[in-house]
Amino acid sequence: MGKRIYLCLAHMSGAEQAFIQEAFDTNWVVPLGPNVNGFEEDLKNFVGEGKEVVALSAGTAAVHLALIACGVGPGDEVIVQSFTFCASSHPIKYLGAIPVFVDSEEDSWNMDPALLEEAIKDRIAKTGRKPKAIIPVALYGMPYRIDEIMRIAERYDIPVIEDAAEGFGSRFDGRVLGTFGRFGVLSFNGNKMITTSGGGALICPDAAAKTEIMFYATQAREAYPYYQHERIGYNYRMSNICAGIGRGQMTVAADHIAHHKHVCALYRELLAGVDGIILHENPSERYDSNYWLNTVVLDPGLHVKGEEHAYEAAVQGAVGGAAGVTHAAGTLHTDCEPNRNVEAMRIALDAAGIESRPLWKPMHKQPVYRDAPAYVNGVSERLFRTGLCLPSGPCVTDDDVRHIVASIKDAILD
Ligand SMILES: *Cc1c(COP(=O)(O)O)cnc(C)c1O
Repeated sequence: MGKRIYLCLAHMSGAEQAFIQEAFDTNWVVPLGPNVNGFEEDLKNFVGEGKEVVALSAGTAAVHLALIACGVGPGDEVIVQSFTFCASSHPIKYLGAIPVFVDSEEDSWNMDPALLEEAIKDRIAKTGRKPKAIIPVALYGMPYRIDEIMRIAERYDIPVIEDAAEGFGSRFDGRVLGTFGRFGVLSFNGNKMITTSGGGALICPDAAAKTEIMFYATQAREAYPYYQHERIGYNYRMSNICAGIGRGQMTVAADHIAHHKHVCALYRELLAGVDGIILHENPSERYDSNYWLNTVVLDPGLHVKGEEHAYEAAVQGAVGGAAGVTHAAGTLHTDCEPNRNVEAMRIALDAAGIESRPLWKPMHKQPVYRDAPAYVNGVSERLFRTGLCLPSGPCVTDDDVRHIVASIKDAILD
């Protein structure tokens, strides 16, 4: 195979260039303008439920501004799903607040509602104060138990910020994720369901909330003829050029989601007879994952070629196509890492031209969050030790999936 198969590469519809050209032609090369308004309108129609949407420079910015809008400040506690990408929890630290990590349940792999309630009660008992917000995460696109999470959140009157960055277009009981809680976070990074090259959005309950978010996203300026500041603001608005890409992407959003689901169905069919490898799927009819990334778990008893040599060589830079700058690893091991058979499978797939990646390492196992309170049940740690993400994006063809599954079977020792 000459080409490399990536987890989820951006895929242009062809409509993007016209929107960008228009921005140049009309001299709207700034962080506001017709494409920003048009993209927000498209997103508003897509998510429905009478919500408003603000386009921002990143999903991380959307998390940050949602926390500010929920009144989070220094010393406050925010409950967040531990099994997530760091963008769900880092903004809590930006505000000098304290993340309280809650583990996952087996079915959705997302926030365990029973553990959530236990955490709320225990935080109130220990600190005398309620957590300021609850952040469940649609990991790999899979919906969280939002019915139960909302019931608990309402019982304690704590706002929910849905992190649907990976769950664009996923649904629970037929309703789009990001529309259940007070706020919903979307991401349009290069590897997400749709992209603006980099960007995000915050789903807001109403026009007043949207206006407040836009105020903070544009440096919090008061209405005077000169710059007057009474709050600290941020430069988080999406540019009109990026929004042009977003408008083009919205023309193929439904196709992308359908493609990811099609890839899942093909993995299901081809992996059906493979012992020791389980595909993560909707636990019931109520869940409708976009299958942003298809994921599998490997039975610890499954033996993979070369597993005795796993972790002998240090990884150079960031794993996979997503580049970025990383610190060189000081050691070959950490105290919590994927099993040897998982690492051996990743290396075998890599050699076959296939990008795969371990599941996200739970935040309560990250050294930087060593001191954060955590309510755990072992689920996310077990998933991290046994799981792998497989290529799922719009550039992944049926032949690619066949090649991937054949390569997985090749790597298994029988
Ligand atoms: C990608 C992502 C975000 C936000 O990402 P940006 O790259 O800042 O757009 C937030 N949460 C999760 C779970 C994500 O995967």
